[in-house]
Amino acid sequence: MKKIERRSVSVIILIAAILAGLVLFTVKYVKRGSSWAAFSANSSVYKSGVLIKGTIYDRNGVLLSGVSDSGRYYSDDLDVRLSTLHAVGDIGGNIGTGALSVFTSELTGYDMISGNYSASGKGNSLYLTIDAELNKTAYNALEGRKGTVAVYNYETGEILCMASSPSFDPNEPSSVGADDDSGAYINRFLSSAFTPGSTFKTVTSIAAIEKLPDIYDRRFTCGGSVTIDGNNVTCTHAHGEITFEQALAVSCNCAFAEIAVELGSDTLSEYVKDLGLDEAHSVSGIKTAAGSYDISEGDAETAWSGVGQHTDLVNPEAMLRLMGAIAGGGSAAEPTLIRDVKNSLGISTGAYPSTKKFTLLNPETARQISDMMSYNTAYTYGEENYPGLRLHAKSGTAEVGDGAAPHAWFVGFITNPDHPLAFVVLVENGGSGSSVAGPIANKVLQAATAK
Ligand SMILES: [Zn+2]
Repeated sequence: MKKIERRSVSVIILIAAILAGLVLFTVKYVKRGSSWAAFSANSSVYKSGVLIKGTIYDRNGVLLSGVSDSGRYYSDDLDVRLSTLHAVGDIGGNIGTGALSVFTSELTGYDMISGNYSASGKGNSLYLTIDAELNKTAYNALEGRKGTVAVYNYETGEILCMASSPSFDPNEPSSVGADDDSGAYINRFLSSAFTPGSTFKTVTSIAAIEKLPDIYDRRFTCGGSVTIDGNNVTCTHAHGEITFEQALAVSCNCAFAEIAVELGSDTLSEYVKDLGLDEAHSVSGIKTAAGSYDISEGDAETAWSGVGQHTDLVNPEAMLRLMGAIAGGGSAAEPTLIRDVKNSLGISTGAYPSTKKFTLLNPETARQISDMMSYNTAYTYGEENYPGLRLHAKSGTAEVGDGAAPHAWFVGFITNPDHPLAFVVLVENGGSGSSVAGPIANKVLQAATAK
C-alpha cells in the first residue's frame, strides 16, 4: 500500500511539473511569441538579413518602403528616402529606431493564436504617424547641417515630423563607411542628448513661478555680467533693468543665474526630474536617450546650470514632451509613431492610434509659462516672422566649448485649435537659436498648418 501511495505522489508531482511548464511556456509565448517569430534567422520573414514582410506608409498612405520579388525597396523620391530614413530604417538594420528594426511584429502580421503570418504572405501595412512631405520640408530646411526637427500633435500624440540629419540613401547604404563618425545612423530626436542652452530657462522659470511668489514684482539689473562664487556669468550685452518676463524674452543669463542660485541645485534637480528631462521615455516602444542634470558643488555651477549650460543635457524628445505639456495646460499625449496597422485584407487591427496622457505641470503654472513664451514671440522673436501661427517659443544658443559654434535651438508650440502642435528644432553648431533654428521652425509649422 505504501508503495502505491508513493507512486501516486510521484505521479502528482510529475503532472504538476508538466502543468507548471505549460503555464510558463504559454506566458512566454504570449509575451515573446512575436519576437521569436521575427527572429532574424526565420527564413520566412527574413532574406539575407532583410525583413521581407510588410509595407510601410506615411500617415497619408505615401509609400515609404515595400517588398517585391527581388526584396525590399524604398520610395522613388530621394528626398523622402533621406528625410524618413530614421523612421523607416535601413536594410542593414543600422538604424536602431527604424520601423524595420522595431516594428517587426506589426510588419510581419504575426498572429499569436495561429502562429501564422498574414494570409497573403506579404505581411501587414504599417502606417506611421509621420507626414513624408513635412519630413522633406524639415530635412531640406536643415540644409545638410547636423540636427533634428520634430513636430507632434500634443492632443493625439502623433509625431508628424521626425527628421534627423545627416541621413543617407537607404538604396545606397555603402555611402556610409564603416568608420563613419558623422552619426548618420543616429536618430538625433530619440537617441541623443544635447546641451540645452537657454531653452532650459523654461525649466528655471517654471521652478521660479512656483517657488518665488514675488517673482513677477522683481526687477533685475543686468550690466552684461555678474560674478557668482568667483565665476563670471555673462550676457551678450547689458540688458539694463528688466522684469522676470523680459528676462526670459531677452534670455538674460545674469537674471537667470541669480534666480537659479536662489532656487538652489536641489530644487532645480527636483524640477528636472518632475518634468521628465533626466529619464528615458518610450515612444511606441522605442526607448529614448535620458538627459542629465548634475550639480556637485558650488553656486557657480548652479548658476550656469540654471541657464542650460554646465553639464546639462536634454534629449529632444523629452523637450518636445515638456512643450506639449505646457501647451496642453500641464498634460499632453505621449508621442507615438504608429497611426494604423492593416492586415492583407485591409482590415485595421484597431489598436492604433493609441493615445496615452501624461501630466508634468499643474494647470496654473502651465498657463503662466505659456503666457511668458507667447510674450517671447511678441517682445523678441517678432510675430511678423511667424505669421498666423500664435507662436509660444524659447530659443537656445548652447555653448559647447572647444571653439565650436553653439547649438541652435528653437522649441515651443502653437495654439491653433485645428493644429495643436509642439515642436523642437536643433541645429548642431548652427549658431544663434532664434536666427538659425527659428526660421526652420517657421517653415515647417507653416507647412504643417497649411494642410
Ligand atoms: Zn542680461
